[in-house]
Amino acid sequence: MADLNELNLPNEELARVIDPDELPAQGRFKEPLQPGDYTFKLPQVFRGFESIVGFQNEPQLEARFIDEFALVVPALNEHFNWKVNTIPRLRGKDKIPVSDFAYLLKALEVRAAGNTLKDLAQALLVAVEQQSTFKGTVKWGTKCSESKDVYKDGAVQAGVKGCGRKYSTDPYTTKKSYGPNQEFTRVFPIPQRQDGTYSPTFECACGATLRSWPEIDRIR
Ligand SMILES: [Zn+2]
Repeated sequence: MADLNELNLPNEELARVIDPDELPAQGRFKEPLQPGDYTFKLPQVFRGFESIVGFQNEPQLEARFIDEFALVVPALNEHFNWKVNTIPRLRGKDKIPVSDFAYLLKALEVRAAGNTLKDLAQALLVAVEQQSTFKGTVKWGTKCSESKDVYKDGAVQAGVKGCGRKYSTDPYTTKKSYGPNQEFTRVFPIPQRQDGTYSPTFECACGATLRSWPEIDRIR
């Protein structure tokens, strides 16, 4: 160890200056954002791109808004980790393949100069530079996995698999294929606490302890 003046520290500014008001919370487990509508702001700097593989082995792009690149929820002064990719899903009654990434660029009001993955990434970086915001609906979901050993009574139960039930804060039932008078629950509701909020962990009908994960739906 040495006196400060003996250290010969460089005079250059540090690469990333962090505003003291924007330091992330330390350590303690924070519950995810409760389901609902929020405005999200892009981070000041973004280097969270990852190349991933799509359904037919084609290259795709993922933007990972995680940790230092997390989205900001200005109304709550909180950060939100989120991933979005260019893998298309069939949307609307005409079943047109569109990715969440395309909806994000539209919501951010930026247009890609061309149709390559690099063009899409650059459009997102323009929005980062403009510190753009978008709106989205947070919902939670989870599945009691049939392929994994369940967590129950505070420990992993070796060899005991989950029951396959799906849960969401946006549950739904369907009448199709079960006759006109029979409802079939495809996605079960995540139970609410007495004050109406949702707990990030809850007990499945089979007894397994499940943890819900937040996602952003209806990007706009
Ligand atoms: Zn279960």
